Amino acid sequence: MSHIFPRNSRAALPMVARGEGVYLFDTDGKRYLDGSGGAAVSCLGHSDPDVTAAIKAQLDSVAFAHTGFFTSEPAERLADLLIEHAPHGIDRVYLVSGGSEAMEAALKLARQYFIETGQPGRHRVIARRQSYHGNTLGALATGGNMWRREPFAPLMIETSHIAPCYAYRGQAPGESEREYGQRVADELEEEILRLGPETVMAFVAEPVVGATAGAVPPVAGYFQRIREICDAYGVLLILDEVMCGMGRTGTLFACEQDGVAPDIVIIAKGLGAGYQPIGAMLCSGAIHDAIAAGSGAFLHGHTYMGHPVAAAAALAVLTRLTAGGLADRSRVMGERLNAALEAGFGQHPHVGDIRGRGLFRALEFVEDRETKRPFPPEKGLHKRLKAAAFEAGLICYPMGGTIDGRQGDHVLLAPPFILEDAHVDEIVDKLGTAIARSI
Ligand code: PMP
Repeated sequence: MSHIFPRNSRAALPMVARGEGVYLFDTDGKRYLDGSGGAAVSCLGHSDPDVTAAIKAQLDSVAFAHTGFFTSEPAERLADLLIEHAPHGIDRVYLVSGGSEAMEAALKLARQYFIETGQPGRHRVIARRQSYHGNTLGALATGGNMWRREPFAPLMIETSHIAPCYAYRGQAPGESEREYGQRVADELEEEILRLGPETVMAFVAEPVVGATAGAVPPVAGYFQRIREICDAYGVLLILDEVMCGMGRTGTLFACEQDGVAPDIVIIAKGLGAGYQPIGAMLCSGAIHDAIAAGSGAFLHGHTYMGHPVAAAAALAVLTRLTAGGLADRSRVMGERLNAALEAGFGQHPHVGDIRGRGLFRALEFVEDRETKRPFPPEKGLHKRLKAAAFEAGLICYPMGGTIDGRQGDHVLLAPPFILEDAHVDEIVDKLGTAIARSI
């Protein structure tokens, strides 16, 4: 009997034995191509020598020193390198241990900023229906994923949710992509006006939506309009790049491709690449300076923030992504993966949409391509796909429809950036087998 919970009650999980490049192996010697990097985590694959060497070297010097007493060289260098590559205006880094912690820090920083700048009425958060921002209480309240929220309602932070930017299902007949983007972005303005601008603190969104919808990129112009609206009403723009950041979409920060800079951006997953648990909240100099000039300190903190070993791992990862050119490789290999998915499944009667950016791709499944009708939820298609792919030796990240009951099942692919052409073929081949066995 295992004392670990939760456990998938229907199936005993295999025990992982080792990782090598894009592959994981279980204790029976079975090989799995990690086509989703777990959940878009393992961007460097599983046995990166630079990262493991950096971790060992840090352990040999000092494993832990509390940030209340010391700073550390890897934490300082990591923050410098992040800011060197960060969106315009982003100037400070707050290191935490994962995505949800980064989201909590972002929410509290935004709140403290408004309290200290004489706008204490600003406490409301607006996010989108198609979103996941973490499982801690503030992050859960922010996300628009109903089945995760409902069991814990009422949630303590007041949030409201507007439409996502999801062209495959939202764009009206005869409407251009740009018109669609403006229309759904304008919902933010309507919601701010409905709530009263003096009560709204922040708008939170993932630039490219991850787990809830499957690599949904915004249409051109959407985030620029969002930025304009936030500026017009003094609302902070918080971008959640926990899943889509750190090169996953082909640029280090996903928002670079949308021509906008946030006030706060959070990252995690790819930052530690699975070698260490680490996340970060990055904010503008303006926010930082307002708090520094006010009470002087951000009223927050965790024991393991800025952990030297985690920072050393992340510094090695970030060096590979930037100087090592791996974020660019995500873009190049992402195009190849997309072309192979189009060639393999573009005409498939049950594949409604193939989408994404960089090595962040998804297939959305439909019963009927014409009407885009999803499969009935009772079919549990995403669960069947996951199981069939796993059986065939492919790890992919599937999810059922969640938005307004209209979205189809999808499979998310987020393989390591070290992927080679032969691995692309293997993904498409095994996914084809899984689809054939599941539908
Ligand atoms: N935001 C997004 C967009 C995520 O995908 C996730 C994790 N799936 C989180 C936040 C929460 O991160 P963590 O699981 O590290 O707390």
